[in-house]
Amino acid sequence: MRVRKREVKIGGMAIGGSNPIAVQTMLNVPIDDIPGNVAQARRCAAAGCQILRVTCPTPADARCIEAVKKAVDIPIVADIHFDYRAALACAAVGVDKIRINPGNIGSDDRVKEVVTACRAGHIPIRIGVNGGSLEKHILAKYGAPVPEAMVESALYHVRLLEKFDFEDIVISIKSSNVPRMMEAYRQLSAVTDYPLHVGVTEAGTYQMGLLKSGMGIGGLLLEGIGDTIRVSLAADPEKEVEAGFNILRAVGYAVAGPEVITCPTCGRTQYPCIEIANEVERRLQGYKKPIKVAVMGCVVNGPGEAREADIGIAGGKNEAVLFVHGQPVRKLTGDNILDQFMEEIYKL
Ligand code: SF4
Repeated sequence: MRVRKREVKIGGMAIGGSNPIAVQTMLNVPIDDIPGNVAQARRCAAAGCQILRVTCPTPADARCIEAVKKAVDIPIVADIHFDYRAALACAAVGVDKIRINPGNIGSDDRVKEVVTACRAGHIPIRIGVNGGSLEKHILAKYGAPVPEAMVESALYHVRLLEKFDFEDIVISIKSSNVPRMMEAYRQLSAVTDYPLHVGVTEAGTYQMGLLKSGMGIGGLLLEGIGDTIRVSLAADPEKEVEAGFNILRAVGYAVAGPEVITCPTCGRTQYPCIEIANEVERRLQGYKKPIKVAVMGCVVNGPGEAREADIGIAGGKNEAVLFVHGQPVRKLTGDNILDQFMEEIYKL
């Protein structure tokens, strides 16, 4: 059961409330390469990314934010660390959301200026707490970036915004330590109704990052916690988008597009099941219909084990049985079984 948070609008979309969980990523092209950022943003949008974050270290870099915003029609988030003038510059070019920790930008006057600009532009602010960079006074109090310390940090930044009656807020509270990050989100979710952006930070290389994100993000989603997710991987951001949707699928959320299921294969397998499954998945990239496609290793158990699939094949020797909802339909033979199968999928 989803933990219901208040709704926050980000450009033309909304998160929280009963809105679907949005998948986001962040560009990783150097910020001074505007064409490179624009091209990568287009690739992310084509991969289905729903919210796109771009760093903005200086006010001049708002030019890149502006260019990316013009190039794609998904909400753009500016990532600001210390320079409040960069936040103002992004608000001026119509960014859809700003990630900034108000405690990092100095005086109340600066916070007030950012809040005023965001309020005028209907721009929400995400507070992004990271276990690795907690405020010194909070770290001194707890001695380590424990969940309680991360929650206290998040609420400290929240109060700095609420002081100016600003409540258009999203919060993240990330750590690279999965149990710690999960507990921090649980504690935070219990004391706030602001929507939560969930992620494991510095999750590691591709494989480890996938695992940690699957456990941390997926685990929290299963507990109903999370309104938007970002999988952090040392990889292209399109891969993060793909992983985000796969996590949503894995925990049972309806996601547009096909899902390919396959068995691990075993000694009964007599055809290139794994290669075919990968190729089917590759060819179905960008296909919009929400269908389940199975590629199973053998006829004996395959159709039954993949009963929940809309369509599938189970391979034998130089042939495959085509099945629909677990029932065999006919045999595919010859050396183009894969092409025949794809034709059947597109007919559905
Ligand atoms: S479906 Fe057949 S090939 Fe695949 S794991 Fe099960 S028994 Fe083995």
